[in-house]
Amino acid sequence: MGRAVCVYCRERAAVPEWAPFCSERCKLLDLRNWVDGRYRIPGEDAATAGGDDSDRQP
Ligand SMILES: [Zn+2]
Repeated sequence: MGRAVCVYCRERAAVPEWAPFCSERCKLLDLRNWVDGRYRIPGEDAATAGGDDSDRQP
């Protein structure tokens, strides 16, 4: 077993070179998401943590 899937799109990783992603595209997209999260403006979370549950899923 141990069939790896892309951690970004959940497709089966075809090229071991890009593991744990299926391609360079997914690797870059995931990296960009990570960077966007890291560089989020501080305070944005605090502003929405005051009881606004509009983002909460049913
Ligand atoms: Zn992928």
